[in-house]
Amino acid sequence: MDNKDKKDKLISIIVPMYNEEEVLESFYKRVKEVISKIEYSVELLFVNDGSSDNSLNIVRNLQKGDERIKYVDLSRNFGKELAMSAGFDYAQGDAAVVIDADLQDPPELILDMIKYWEAGYDDVYAKRISRKGETFMKKFTSKMFYRVLQFSSKVPIQKDTGDFRFLSKKALISLRELRETQRYTKGLFSLIGHKKKELLYERDPRIAGTTKWNYLKLIDLAVEGICCFTTVPLRLAIFLGLSVSFFSFIFMLVIIYQKLFGNAKIPPGYPSTMTVILFLGGIQLFSLGIIGEYLGRIFNETKNRPLYFINEYSDNKDIS
Ligand code: UDP
Ligand code: MG
Repeated sequence: MDNKDKKDKLISIIVPMYNEEEVLESFYKRVKEVISKIEYSVELLFVNDGSSDNSLNIVRNLQKGDERIKYVDLSRNFGKELAMSAGFDYAQGDAAVVIDADLQDPPELILDMIKYWEAGYDDVYAKRISRKGETFMKKFTSKMFYRVLQFSSKVPIQKDTGDFRFLSKKALISLRELRETQRYTKGLFSLIGHKKKELLYERDPRIAGTTKWNYLKLIDLAVEGICCFTTVPLRLAIFLGLSVSFFSFIFMLVIIYQKLFGNAKIPPGYPSTMTVILFLGGIQLFSLGIIGEYLGRIFNETKNRPLYFINEYSDNKDIS
């Protein structure tokens, strides 16, 4: 491909952002540097995920000096997963890359990703070798989560990868077809298949601002990951229920036997009865809870709602 043909192809850089006013300027500076080294045409698509700060205005200002900047303004905060799918929908490129606004994903890596894309890979994803600036607890919980998920799911889930990845047109089209409202995008990337390539990188600490994650959100994401990708917990409930019933049955036989043929005095039995009832009750509630998780998801998906709503899309064409 010569340079002219390369200019005909467009690469979309998708940036989900939620209250990132502190980092946007430096993000733009660094990305601009990288873009100048890309031989293809580039669009920089910000997805404003309902920021309540000045983020959108900053993007609008940047737009005036750079026609490659476009944005989608979502009608409220939908969360990064949905912000990304809005990005996939509005990206016009022949390929797209998702990158965080906080510069935790080094934009320079995009240049390497492009090389692999040229070599025919559809999904070049960055795998972190270190997680600077993250607490031990976050690293530990994240590791355990991947273990459990992988153990219970048939789709191979990539460990230690974020959403920082380069997608070919093919992969983009596949992703657009997945319209589930409860998304676990990392799993979806695995689900679509295509030719994948792993790149190793050092994940930097966020340059400014604070992470939007907290433990509640992480637990939410973890439950989402497991319930969207496996039905193993349902089976677990069945298994648990069955084994408990089995042992109680044996126990019952023992008691009957003692009553009929044993000469030992049967104690009044209040404590044992209580423990059994409580134990079973607990398991029943637990199982019901699991079923509820899935049922809730079915309920939400059957409503078939759009994934997100937007206030505005600006492709920066008619700005005077
Ligand atoms: N983000 C978003 N919507 C949200 C939360 C986060 O679009 O509801 C964006 C955020 O602006 C950033 C990226 O997703 O560009 C990653 O967020 P964050 O840095 O908070 O996550 P972490 O890096 O800690 O996993
Ligand atoms: Mg971050």
